Amino acid sequence: MKRIEIRKPDDFHIHLRQGELLKMTVPHCSAYFSRAVVMPNTIPPIDSASTLEEYRRQIVEIDPGFNPLMTFKLLKNMKESDVRALKKAGAIAGKLYPAGATTNSTDGITDWRDIAGLLKVMEEEQLVLSIHGEDPSVYSLDREKAYIPEILEICRKFPGLKVVFEHLSSAEGIQAVAEGPDNLAGTITVHHLLLTLDDVIGGALNPHNFCKPVLKGPEDRKAIQKVVLEGNRKFFFGSDSAPHSAAKKQEGAAGSYSAPVSLALLAEFFDGCGKLPMLEDFVSRFGAEFYGMPLNEERIELAEESWIVPEAYGEVIPFFASKVIRWIVKN
Ligand SMILES: [Zn+2]
Repeated sequence: MKRIEIRKPDDFHIHLRQGELLKMTVPHCSAYFSRAVVMPNTIPPIDSASTLEEYRRQIVEIDPGFNPLMTFKLLKNMKESDVRALKKAGAIAGKLYPAGATTNSTDGITDWRDIAGLLKVMEEEQLVLSIHGEDPSVYSLDREKAYIPEILEICRKFPGLKVVFEHLSSAEGIQAVAEGPDNLAGTITVHHLLLTLDDVIGGALNPHNFCKPVLKGPEDRKAIQKVVLEGNRKFFFGSDSAPHSAAKKQEGAAGSYSAPVSLALLAEFFDGCGKLPMLEDFVSRFGAEFYGMPLNEERIELAEESWIVPEAYGEVIPFFASKVIRWIVKN
């Protein structure tokens, strides 16, 4: 039986949600990840030092050993002093949601030029800019591609600002990051790495694989897999694990709950490609290096051992529910 021991990974993009759900999402994340970049699109959003501190308190209360990396949501009416206060409160990144691009983003930014002053302060304060890079005004499969010029312009205008193009889904997005400036990197989810749009609409409609950005075609998936398997350090893991109740998913909510399965699926993917030794850099090194953080010292062991993903965790149906995964994380 194959085994591998690696530094305990980081998840550079996760939605932990709020309230009762936290009691499930925090342990599922902290079992596999030392640190996670916690997305701020709660209701109300994380947009001030006090909301950030309170959200972190709620997370750490559930698992004091977990290290949540806090972020805030960029809003049009935010002041430069708010950004500085957020940094002081421990924020490591600010998230830019184009208005209407995804879950809880109607209050997002229509044009980033409206918040150029805030981006300038983020650059000064060495905060990372995390971007949901989609233009919601164009056809759904073209939204990521349409936002690329905006991201490149932000990188040019703020050369000292580190920018993360989140959850890359298209060959064009991958190329833009690969060939883009040094201050640009991208996160990759396990669902965009493994699936295509056929896994949503190719047979009977599967709402559990529906996410934003929408899964794309085989050529896009190939481009994503290629940079990951090349060990390109501009690309690192961010699960975008985003639970919704089964009822909400039936109504069409976007997001997959991948936290309990993502690391095992990644081990299966790398091993299947004959590249298992490259798993550690993708999940435990490249992201920390881009963000300028020390690597985790804690270690975790994975083994080639089949298990069946539960059909549900409470009201949430996980990614890969009831399917067999050939690798398992040993705790
Ligand atoms: Zn997300």
